[in-house]
Amino acid sequence: MTRIEILEPHGLCAGVNAAIAKALTLRDVYCLHALVHNEIVIGDLKALGFRFVDGIEDVPDGATVVFSAHGVSPRVREAAAARHLTVVDATCPYVAKVHAAARDFARRGLPVVILGDPDHVEFQGIAGEVPAPLTFAEALSPASPLAEGARLGVVAQTTMNADDVARQVADLRTRYAVETAAEVCRATKERQDAVRAFAGDAVLVLGSRTSANSRRLADVAAATGKRAFLAGTMDEVRALDLAGVATLGVTSGASTPERFFADAVRFLKHVPQHVAIIMDGNGRWATQRGKARGEGHKAGAKTLGDVLDWCGARGIRYLTVYAFSTENWKRPKEEVDGLMSLFARILKAKESRFVESEVRFRMVGRRGDLSPNLLAVIEALEAKTARFERQFIVAISYGGRAEIVDAANAAIRAGEPLTEETFRRFLYAPDVPDPDLVIRTSGELRTSNFLLWESAYSEYYFTDTLWPDFTEAELDRALASYAARHRRKGGV
Ligand code: SF4
Repeated sequence: MTRIEILEPHGLCAGVNAAIAKALTLRDVYCLHALVHNEIVIGDLKALGFRFVDGIEDVPDGATVVFSAHGVSPRVREAAAARHLTVVDATCPYVAKVHAAARDFARRGLPVVILGDPDHVEFQGIAGEVPAPLTFAEALSPASPLAEGARLGVVAQTTMNADDVARQVADLRTRYAVETAAEVCRATKERQDAVRAFAGDAVLVLGSRTSANSRRLADVAAATGKRAFLAGTMDEVRALDLAGVATLGVTSGASTPERFFADAVRFLKHVPQHVAIIMDGNGRWATQRGKARGEGHKAGAKTLGDVLDWCGARGIRYLTVYAFSTENWKRPKEEVDGLMSLFARILKAKESRFVESEVRFRMVGRRGDLSPNLLAVIEALEAKTARFERQFIVAISYGGRAEIVDAANAAIRAGEPLTEETFRRFLYAPDVPDPDLVIRTSGELRTSNFLLWESAYSEYYFTDTLWPDFTEAELDRALASYAARHRRKGGV
């Protein structure tokens, strides 16, 4: 199996992060060009109502326009001012520095050579700062307008391969007296250095083909003799042919969102997206130690907190746990009351931890069975954490059959013709993908009415360990067992 190594740093650079953060404070705006070169980010912004245009003339008079991290030429700024547009400038400070250097060379009367891709908007923005900019090829061509030995200024697109910049400056020096402000930005250089230093045999760059810095990272990998892959979507990641790759370094361009990076790495490492756990054995654990069953539940709650952290560290996006079944109401009243107040106490106490670790809390089960106090605590926590992507789902007063019956009744009330897809919409958490792996502790070999609909194709892992004794090593054994399985889902 291919070993996966994460190369650091990777992912969003400060310039792109700032541009996205700035854009997200706005509504009803136009973006001139792609705000950043990544289709996932652009898709998210489009869903929020952002409109993308290729020319300043496409922005209606009086509207608000965002200039992307790549910057714009002075001509565009003047046109925006003349049209009374409200401008939100998200130009990266590194790009602005290159503009300033090009302007300074031009002010001093020096011809300016720009290293980079003339079709890239960053190059075009810089070119707008000087009267007659030259490309590297034009400056060295036999038809160059520059006299041999002429003094000239050189700047570079921020996302170039640093080695290419050095080589091209050296080439220009063979014919001209070069003053240079050409350097790639720190974020680009650090990512390229990590790829150069990586000792494995292949590098996967996660990023769009439209992203110059992502393409450069792949070029750098190839230039150092490694196999280089570039993937911008999960479909492309799934289609990778890693045959013969012993160690794969994974990095991402400066405009690639962490969400995509995490999904891709989880897929490559065969880590399940959704783990569900039947936490069994609290009572037996307490009995074995001569303690009250409530002590077992408290120890189990402590283990659960740890497991939530361990799952987060492994990139597992959804963790669902079976905390209290519809059948558990038959237990002695004292134990049930103790459990319900333990739930309320723990959820209140852990509220800030959920927020700090950016975990969305959700409950599945029959809410009407819960006390108003516990329900209020649950719903307050759900509201407070609703914006987070990683999810922790607790099944309380839950039964798989009860969920199916509740969903069927809801579907009948809605008058929906039933298919597997329409039925799914009436489950307690219809947006949550089915569990990939269900773990059951304490040696019992039953599903016990847990996620009956959702676990149709889940892999199961059973262990004799009682839930309070469940360890990080046991979790890793379960994940390794999952990773070794070939999930056919009815196929071949
Ligand atoms: S890659 Fe560099 S120049 Fe481009 S936005 Fe990021 S920090 Fe700025």
